[in-house]
Amino acid sequence: MRHLTPDGLLEAVRQWVAIESPTQDVAAVNRMADHAQALLADAGARIERIPGTMGFADILIGRIPGETEGAGILLLGHMDTVHPVGTLSGDLPWRVDGDRAYGPGIYDMKGGNSIAMSALLHLAATGRQPHMPVTVMFIPDEEAGSPSSRARIEDEALRHALVLVAEPSGEGGRLTVGRHGIARYYLKTTGKPAHAGAYHAKGRSAIREMARQILAVEAMTDYDRTITLNVGTMSGGTHENMVPIHAEACVYVLVPTREAEAEVRAKLLALKPHDPDVKLDVTPGLFRPPYTKTPAIQRLYDHAAGLARSLGFEVAGERVAGGGSDGNFTGALGVPTLDGLGVIGDGPHTHDEHLLVSCLVPRTQLYVRLFETLSPELVGT
Ligand SMILES: [Zn+2]
Repeated sequence: MRHLTPDGLLEAVRQWVAIESPTQDVAAVNRMADHAQALLADAGARIERIPGTMGFADILIGRIPGETEGAGILLLGHMDTVHPVGTLSGDLPWRVDGDRAYGPGIYDMKGGNSIAMSALLHLAATGRQPHMPVTVMFIPDEEAGSPSSRARIEDEALRHALVLVAEPSGEGGRLTVGRHGIARYYLKTTGKPAHAGAYHAKGRSAIREMARQILAVEAMTDYDRTITLNVGTMSGGTHENMVPIHAEACVYVLVPTREAEAEVRAKLLALKPHDPDVKLDVTPGLFRPPYTKTPAIQRLYDHAAGLARSLGFEVAGERVAGGGSDGNFTGALGVPTLDGLGVIGDGPHTHDEHLLVSCLVPRTQLYVRLFETLSPELVGT
C-alpha cells in the first residue's frame, strides 16, 4: 500500500512542495493545480477546473462518488503559499532532518492537501469508496483572503452536508472547531503640504494625525476578550523637507464573534481626526466572518477523536484558531465544519516551516476512516 507508508506519504508531500506556488504567480499556482488535478483523476474524481479571475489562478474541483448519494463532504484545501518562487532553492530548501521535513508551504498547507489526497488515492487503489460523496476543492488565493473563490466556496458548502478543512493542525495535532473573524480596515489621512522650514506652521501633517489614530486603534485591543487590532503596515509622506500630505495604514482585526466584529467596526468607522484640518477616511476591506462551534461540529470533533483513538493515537484536543481559513466562510454559513485536519508541524509563513514526518501515517489513516464513516446522520442533515 504505497499510499500509506511513511516513505510513500513523504514522497507525495515532496511532490507538492517541489512546485512553488505563491498566490500572485498565476502560472505557478496553475502548475500546482495541474499536479492536484492529476491526483484527483487518479482518485477517480470527475474534474471541474474553473478559469482564474481577478488576477488569480484556477479553482480546481474534483467530485468523487460515494456509496450513498445525496449531499456529501466538501474537503477544502488551498494551493497557494506566501513564499515567492526561489524560496525552495534559497532560504527554505526541501530537507528532512530527523522527524522534521522542511519546505515552502509544507505545513500551510501542502502537507494537509497531500495526506487528504493520499487517503482518497488509497481508497481508490483498494477498490473502496467513501461512504458519502466527496468534493475536493482546491483554492488558488486563500493567502490573499480568497477574494476570487469565496462565492464558489459558499455555493458549494451550501450543497454539502459538512466541510472538512486540511489546514494545519494546532499544537500537538489539535483540531480546529472555530475560528476568529478577520477584518481589514484601511486608514487614510490627508493633510496640507508646506515647506518644512519657514512655512511649517501652515502645514497639517498627515503622518502626525495618523500616528495619533494608530495609538487609538491599537488601544481598542482587548486580550481578555481575544479582540486584537494590529496596525500591520503604514506609509506616508513624499519628502523629508515637506509637511506630509498623505499617510496610509492597514489595520488587521481579529474578533471571536459577530457581535465583537460589529462593535469594533462601529468604533473604527466613528474615528474622527484630532486636527480638524486633516481629513480621515476609514474604509473596510476583506472580511472573513468568525465561525463558532455548534453541536454538529462537536459531534464531528468527537467522531474524529474517537476514530483517532481506535487507530491508536489522540488528536490532542480541540481549539479555536486565531487565524482564518476558508473554513470561516463555511462555518459562518452554518455548515458543520471541522478544520485543522492537516499535518502537525510549525513555522507557517516562515523559513522554519516544517511538518513532523511521524504524523503522516496516522493522520492519513484518520482521513481514510473519516471518509469511510462520516454520514449525514452524524451532523443531523
Ligand atoms: Zn493555510
